[in-house]
Amino acid sequence: MTPEPSLARGARAAPGIALRDLSLEAIDALLSSDAHYQATPTRNYGPHDPVRDAPRFILPCGCGGGPATLVFDFPNVEQLARQGGGPPGEPRRRHFVACEACGHRGRSTAQDWYAVIEWNRELCSAAVPYESFPFFNLAGLDVATAQDRVKAIRHDLELRKAQARLRSEAGIETGRRYRERIEAYLGWTMAAASLLKAHARAQRAMATEA
Ligand SMILES: [Zn+2]
Repeated sequence: MTPEPSLARGARAAPGIALRDLSLEAIDALLSSDAHYQATPTRNYGPHDPVRDAPRFILPCGCGGGPATLVFDFPNVEQLARQGGGPPGEPRRRHFVACEACGHRGRSTAQDWYAVIEWNRELCSAAVPYESFPFFNLAGLDVATAQDRVKAIRHDLELRKAQARLRSEAGIETGRRYRERIEAYLGWTMAAASLLKAHARAQRAMATEA
């Protein structure tokens, strides 16, 4: 094994080193380092399940009309075009969120929780309060602090995702449900980041006007 002495001590891989290039030993060392422990705000992401509870957190459609719901069906031509074409071979049913009023459809995905995250990312705006975001306990934080929190949580999740992948490649049992939850939490960090970015932009615009 190539020695990676600098990685054992710091919480982050050296700049230029991608997570996928790290060995399992290096990732284990990063995850168990004091620096990583101190840089990670929490692993308690709130009371909701990132996979099973996803359908409860679908944002209303931008048209202001009827409810948006998860469907499992064939994506239409417009959806496939937006996604850069469909999967090769026979057309497949996929999960996506659709508005019952205007018919707008979100990105279609293999997992239903991911379809909710994609829909929400598309619809997030400063009109959607970030304080009540269902994960990561953002209530009471200003936008910049919430952004830092989500970024640090995301880094921890990226490391744990890489660790789970390497463990499973090494034949160590990691659990499909554990890996799916890590993936889903990662998706929710991306939805939170999009929402916080919209709020940061709106605050900057207001500051310029004042
Ligand atoms: Zn609509």
